[in-house]
Amino acid sequence: MRELDFTRSAALFEKARSLIPGGVNSPVRSFNSVGGQPVFVKRGRGARIFDEDGNSYIDYVCSWGPLIFGHAHRRIVAAAKAALEAGTTFGACTAGEVTLAEMIVAAVPSVEMVRLVNSGTEAVMSAIRLARGFTRRDKIIKFEGCYHGHSDSLLAKAGSGIATLGMPDSAGVPPNLTVDTITLPYNNPEAVRATAALHGKSIACIVVEAVAGNMGVVLPKPGFLETLRQVASEHGIVLIFDEVITGFRLSYGGAQERFGVAADLTTLGKIIGGGLPMGAYGGRREIMEFVAPSGPVYQAGTLSGNPLAVAAGIETLSMLKEPGIYDKLEKKGAALADGLLEAAAAAGVAAQTGRVGSMFTLFFTENEVTDYASARTSDAARYAGFFRGMLERGFYLAPSQFEAGFVSTAHSKKDIADTVAAARAVLGETTAAG
Ligand SMILES: *Cc1c(COP(=O)(O)O)cnc(C)c1O
Repeated sequence: MRELDFTRSAALFEKARSLIPGGVNSPVRSFNSVGGQPVFVKRGRGARIFDEDGNSYIDYVCSWGPLIFGHAHRRIVAAAKAALEAGTTFGACTAGEVTLAEMIVAAVPSVEMVRLVNSGTEAVMSAIRLARGFTRRDKIIKFEGCYHGHSDSLLAKAGSGIATLGMPDSAGVPPNLTVDTITLPYNNPEAVRATAALHGKSIACIVVEAVAGNMGVVLPKPGFLETLRQVASEHGIVLIFDEVITGFRLSYGGAQERFGVAADLTTLGKIIGGGLPMGAYGGRREIMEFVAPSGPVYQAGTLSGNPLAVAAGIETLSMLKEPGIYDKLEKKGAALADGLLEAAAAAGVAAQTGRVGSMFTLFFTENEVTDYASARTSDAARYAGFFRGMLERGFYLAPSQFEAGFVSTAHSKKDIADTVAAARAVLGETTAAG
């Protein structure tokens, strides 16, 4: 097998570490939990990325979810180019914002009005403020291992980078700011009922990843989302589905369309910006009317709804409307997840897959993964070896056991078959080596 050359990446990382904390602009990009140093990406095309040393990889990170059509899709590039040439930002109203809002409202039935922001973090932070303003209550319920961005009140038992680093929580968050955050185990409807029975009148919202993607992919058990809906309605609690990953990924109407449960507020991000920075929150008109300037809950943004991200977003959503896209993504996702599971079985390695549509995780554990505690039973050292073996063969997976992988429309059947074949080889090797 060829040995990859990482000379330029290594030199860049050396310099980056002296200039940027940990050498990265977001902790999930670090290779800390898989050993070694990150590769520096130079460009992407379709399903592939190319690094600074000229190595190329089939990419299953896809920028952590936005790139449902793969890298540098010609139509999205053209739309962004046209917007770029007309001026990137005005801090004033543009027609594109109205078009994109109309598309989002048409796509997600529970969303009657929507506000555009610049990131998923901003979207969830704003939705929570809105739920608190609307209900005049302070407490929020979130779930262990779910990540909702890095705003203060949500950094309690959060997944993603926090889980990867094995951090309990973040420093710098005063206890005052999380005393109203109640964290419950995912997929445990009894815990939700019991908490609502005790504190129902002071709970502003329940915020949940309708499919968890930030402790690895963990599906809601049948009845879990329905229970959340029921409890929220009974107690006047705002139900927030954080669909920053699942929105426009699991179906055109997101997880709520796929599972048939409606939220009061929905947060979006990743795919809706077509690969440029964007987030959004939306929901029932009576709640959204509470947002300034129509209501008393303040939220603003200099670059919110900027023409560049909006143009890329509109083009992406238009392309997603074409018939058959989600069927194709489902088939590719299933082929990959099934193939990986078979590869593990052939090598005698205990594994589970969490998968829905085109998002997946291969967990190295013999336990069924239904929540954060069971996800944590995975063998992170085994994952690190798997990750490195795959990287050396030209397959770029998430550098953490506790993250989702993504398949795009650009991944071909051959790409997936090659990935499965490589996984067989890597897993066979690591078991042989003990
Ligand atoms: C990525 C993510 C966020 C945060 O979005 P950013 O754009 O990174 O701020 C929030 N919620 C979920 C479910 C996410 O996956």
